[in-house]
Formats: sequence, C-alpha cells, structure tokens
Amino acid sequence: MAIKKETPARNATHSVAGGKYIFVVGGVMSSVGKGIAASSIGKILQSRGYKVTNLKADMYVNLDAGTIRPAEHGEVFVGEDGIEADQDLGNYERFTGQTSTRDNYITTGQIYAEVIRRERNLEYGGEDVEVYPDIPKEIIRRIEACQKKNNSEIMITEYGGTVGEYQLLPFLEAARMMKSKNPADVFIVLISYLPTPSLLGEQKSKPTQHAITDLYSVGLNPDFVICRADEPATADIKRTISNVCSLPIERIISAPDVYSIYDVPVNFEKENLGSTLLEAMGLQTKEKDLSDWTAFAEKIKKINKTVKIGIVGKYFNFKSCKDTYISVIESINHAAWGLNYKPEIAWLDSEKYENNKKLLSELDNLDGIIVPGGFGKRGTEGMILAADYARRNKIPYFGLCLGMQIMTISYARNVLGLKDANSTEMNPDTKYPVISTMQDQIEKIKSKNYGASMRLGTYPCALKAGTVARGAYGQNSIDERHRHRYEVNNAYVKPLEEAGLVFSGTSPDGNLMEIAELPKKEHPFFLGTQFHPEFLGRPLSPHPLFTAFVKACLTAGRPA
Ligand code: GLN
Repeated sequence: MAIKKETPARNATHSVAGGKYIFVVGGVMSSVGKGIAASSIGKILQSRGYKVTNLKADMYVNLDAGTIRPAEHGEVFVGEDGIEADQDLGNYERFTGQTSTRDNYITTGQIYAEVIRRERNLEYGGEDVEVYPDIPKEIIRRIEACQKKNNSEIMITEYGGTVGEYQLLPFLEAARMMKSKNPADVFIVLISYLPTPSLLGEQKSKPTQHAITDLYSVGLNPDFVICRADEPATADIKRTISNVCSLPIERIISAPDVYSIYDVPVNFEKENLGSTLLEAMGLQTKEKDLSDWTAFAEKIKKINKTVKIGIVGKYFNFKSCKDTYISVIESINHAAWGLNYKPEIAWLDSEKYENNKKLLSELDNLDGIIVPGGFGKRGTEGMILAADYARRNKIPYFGLCLGMQIMTISYARNVLGLKDANSTEMNPDTKYPVISTMQDQIEKIKSKNYGASMRLGTYPCALKAGTVARGAYGQNSIDERHRHRYEVNNAYVKPLEEAGLVFSGTSPDGNLMEIAELPKKEHPFFLGTQFHPEFLGRPLSPHPLFTAFVKACLTAGRPA
C-alpha cells in the first residue's frame, strides 16, 4: 500500500496542544450518571485551583440537539451563543460555572460536515478523504480548539454512549491517537456499572470486565474506573477490577447512589479521586476548597419542610421526565433549598384537563405551578385552562417560554374577552393571534428550515421599575437565554396592558415582550418569561425568579 503524503488538512490535527486531557467514557449501560461524573471531576479539579473545561461529544449525526425529541433524549440545553446542546452542558454549568458555547459540544454530524466542507475546498490536496484518519483527526482538532480557546489546564471530554457501540469508534480512536502520542497527558476514565441481581444480593463486576475488554480492543486501557452502583463497591470488587485492568486499587472509585447529584463531588473526594487524578497526571495536588459545596450538599439533606410544585407539561413518558425538564427541576431545587424547603414535584399532564375540567381542582393541593417550554399544539388547551385556573384561584404560576405565551393567551381569552385567542403556532388561522410568528421566522417556517433557526441564545432584557420581575432581579437590565419562534404580538400589547397585564421586561428597544406578569396586589405570583431562566439557575446562587416564585408559593396563604 502506498504511504500517503500528509496534506495540510491531515497534519493540522496531530498533536496534544497543551494541558491535560481526560476522556470520560461509559461502559455496561447508559444513564448511570456519566454527565454528573464528568461534571464532578471538573468540580473537584477546579476546587484544587485548576482551570478546567468540560466538553460533550455525542455520537449522533444530528448537527445539534435542537431537532431531537426531549421526552426521549432529554432536555435541549441552550448555550450562551445559542447552541442547542445535550443536557450535560447544563450539568457542567451548574457544577463548574462554565459558560457553555458551541465549542463545548461536538456531534458526529458536525465532524463530518466540517471534513466534507474542507474536502469541497480542496483542503486535502487531492487525496481521498477517509473515515480513518480524517474523522478522528477532526475530533482531535475540535477538542484541542476548545482547550486553546478556554486556555484550560485540564480538558474533560465526555463521550455519549457506551464502549462497544459502533458509532463511538472514531471518537475512541481520537482518544487513542492522542494518548499514544502523549501518554503522560491523556487519561481515560471509565464510568461503569455494578449490577446487584436481586436473587443474588451481591454486586457483580463481570459486565465491567467486559467493558474494559471492549476498551482494550480499541487500544485503550482505562486509567481510572468509576463504579456506579446502588451501594459502595465492595473491597473484593475493587480488587477484581484493579487486577483486570492492572491499575492500583486507589484508581477504582466507588460511586454509590447518593441523596442528591451535588453529593457526587464530595463522594469522589472521600475516595481521594482529586489527588489520585492529579498525581496520575503529574500535576501538583494543591489544597482543595470544596467547603461551600460540601456544606450545601449536607444542608439540603436536613431540610424537612416541603413545598409542593406542579409541572403542567406534556413531555412525560414517566421514565424520563426528570431528564426532559432537568434544568427546570434543578432550578426549583436550588430556589427551594435556598429557602430551606424541600420541593415535592407533581407531574401534571395538561391533556387530561381538556377532557375533564374538573380535574383542574387538583391544582388546589399544590403551592404553585410551572408551565415549562414546549412546541406544537398538543396539550396547549389544557395548559391554557390551568393558567386561567391558577389566575382565578390565586395559585402562584410561573411560565417558562411557552408558559409565558400560554398565560398571555389565557389572559386574552378570559380577561380581554378575545374568545379563541391563540398562538399562530397552535392555530395559524386564529382570529386573535395574540402570540404570533416572529418576523424573521416566517420564511424559515415556510421553507422548513427548522435546524438552529429559532431565536437562540443570550439577549438583553430591560426591566420596568416597580414590577415583580424588577424586584426579584434587583437590577434594571438582565441577560437571559432564549429558544423560540413565536412572540407576543405587538398589536395586542396595548389592549392586554389596559386589561391589567404588565409587560415588565422587554428587549432594550421595547419591541419584544420578554416578561409578562400581574401586579402583586392582584395575584401572589403570575409571571411568565419568553426566555428560559432555568438555564442560569446554580446550586449556590439560585435564579432570582425561581426564588421569587417559590417564596410566593410559601406565602400565597391559600386555604389548605
Ligand atoms: N413553541 C414556542 C415558540 O417557539 C415556545 C418555545 C419554548 O417553549 N422553548 O415560541
């Protein structure tokens, strides 16, 4: 076989560009908390004074997560620059405070699109372009570019999926290429799972051994194995795994189920993961400062008073609504915990109210409701009924994006008297389009240009003095992340305001309604945002609107 001459596009992506690289890969099965493990590794290394950056690489051919069904694949997290990404970017932000952008998110689709773009540009100098080595090299280039841009000392790259999957091969090959060139700078952390079959009642390590063999077969040896399980890994299991992969026993880390995800970094440090990792990487161990985080993780375990919050939505398939609404749930958690309450969340499928309005009385048992984001007509009539019920019965209501549009429609129908008012998303021919297609979206929808084409990412919003929103934020101007195609129709702003609805946040030019609310004297909390505040909630600094909402839930003073 002729030896290929390296072309510029090929040899541009060869090296390890500085810093240390940790690859987090899954074995045995998915959904065992790989994202939380990657976030926690970031957190503990950061707490020891290192600049870390987390990146997620997903195996699918989609260019981003924007067109993926949330009930099946989890929430679409929106980065500051508008990237529609996997929910793990939200975990990274919540754990390390990283601001995510498109540099932190890779998919197979993006890698191929770039390689094909270069091929069309003749950047491969007449060579044929091949899955190996051109695809892994582009993966390496992206990881290194992220490291450089963030000037990070430690890059943590989490691979979606589990070893043994066909689609993961180019990604594992990228890690192998980097590691073989710079073994002292590249580390593989396998997140595995130890099942405890109920008939046996003891942990089994065999599936983990198979995952390790799968890694061997692609030329990789794990440097650390993190053992997810119901209970801590037994000494025997740790010994077996350490023998199988010829690793010192302190590199086999126990990761049992915990009270909250925020315990995971604390738990990792109990297993000395921070210092063992740094030693392995040849970096100074440095003192850790996880005290605020540890105190927070401990404090929340002691909270026993509860606040009951209903989520009136439609992406429930009961096995995964936690993933579908993860940023909403976490933002509720942060705010409730900050007020020393433990949230109890009820999942309320809005469609059922459409057939039986009497069921709305179940909202009386709650301290407040949230209508989160969503797309399409299904379930929206039930949400509109729920918003009206909450308004009439003074039940705190918080609308997130679609939830703000829903409360506006409900107000237009029931207070302004515009019967059948709607959004053009739900009914393009509605007589009263109080929510209408954004001007720049009209052509996009016509030409079925649905990918990455919404109003996405961070935009500023000016707040009106004396409003609930202004009081909650304590400042005049804010920046929040967006993901929508529809907006309040300006033709209806005046009539809605005259009927009592307050637009307390708008784009700085006043043209786009960003927050709608009722004054405090009218309602304990009836507020919706066109943006998604849930993307900016952090465990130690809850989002001010979520805090204001939970406070209202605690003080609304409705009869029990
Ligand atoms: N479907 C609505 C829109 O596109 C709301 C979107 C959302 O909730 N993220 O405007």
